[in-house]
Amino acid sequence: MKKHLVLLGPPGAGKDTQGRMLSKELGIPLISSGDLVRKEINERTDFGLRFKELTESGSLVPDEFMNDFFAHVLSSYDLRKGYILNGFPRTVNQAEFLDEYLKEKDAEVELVLFLDVDFDTLVKRLSGRRVCKSCGAVYNIYFSPPKVDSICDVCGGELVQREDDKVEAVKKRIEVYLESTKPLLDFYKKRGILKSCDASKSPESVNRYLLEATNDCD
Ligand SMILES: [Zn+2]
Repeated sequence: MKKHLVLLGPPGAGKDTQGRMLSKELGIPLISSGDLVRKEINERTDFGLRFKELTESGSLVPDEFMNDFFAHVLSSYDLRKGYILNGFPRTVNQAEFLDEYLKEKDAEVELVLFLDVDFDTLVKRLSGRRVCKSCGAVYNIYFSPPKVDSICDVCGGELVQREDDKVEAVKKRIEVYLESTKPLLDFYKKRGILKSCDASKSPESVNRYLLEATNDCD
């Protein structure tokens, strides 16, 4: 059974959902960069303040800083027992750093799972999101619409679309991800540890596929 895993996939591919399911089933921790970064920002740590500065100025987070951050985060895990990395690495530089780091810990990446979803479906998943202004319930006008247009089933509040979820913003986000991740996919493909999964299917069938992939002995 493979237990040293990296999860890759564009926004809207279901990385968080799949990561949570796998983590529970395999009994290994899900280490999500998004959650970790938010935690640092909330707790106003040195890392958090720097992250905040970088996001507010709209700059990219430099690889070196990201690598330092992950060395700090990963040091609190017993990595040999297993892990699912979600949201890291994002670049080849980060992947190379990770290789070195994990080699030292005798916990090298065994399997990289890429959640592949076609562009139009991703756009619908993200731009279809509507959130209730009053209670925060989340809908999707394509996949899980409210009973009455623009009205919350739960509380009758008004449903709104966040700025981040507007079609143009969503398209841009997906394009940037796919473009910047291509070299990373090639990097893992060359190593023979990349496995792509059709993640446009239901969460349950994607989960079954991923579980089988971790069982694969070759
Ligand atoms: Zn509501």
